[in-house]
Amino acid sequence: MAKKSFDVQVIAKLCKACGICVSLCPKNVFDRAADGKAVVSRPEECIGCVSCELHCPDFCVEVMEKEAE
Ligand code: SF4
Ligand code: SF4
Repeated sequence: MAKKSFDVQVIAKLCKACGICVSLCPKNVFDRAADGKAVVSRPEECIGCVSCELHCPDFCVEVMEKEAE
C-alpha cells in the first residue's frame, strides 16, 4: 500500500507566530520565518497526526490527506 501523504497549509495572515505548531510537530514539518510565523517546509514528512491543526489557537493550520496517485 502506498504511503499516505498530506498537504499542510498555514494561513499566514491569521498566524500570530506563537510557535505551538512548530514545537508540537513530531516530524519537524514547520520552520519559522523571520517574523516568527510558521512556514511549511517539509510537508512530505507529515504523518497526519493533526496535532498542529488541533492546537493552533487561531485555527490557521490545515492538514489534508492527499488522494493516492
Ligand atoms: S499533522 Fe502532525 S506531522 Fe503533520 S504537520 Fe501537523 S503536527 Fe506535523
Ligand atoms: S500554532 Fe497557529 S498561530 Fe501558532 S505559529 Fe502555528 S500556525 Fe501560527
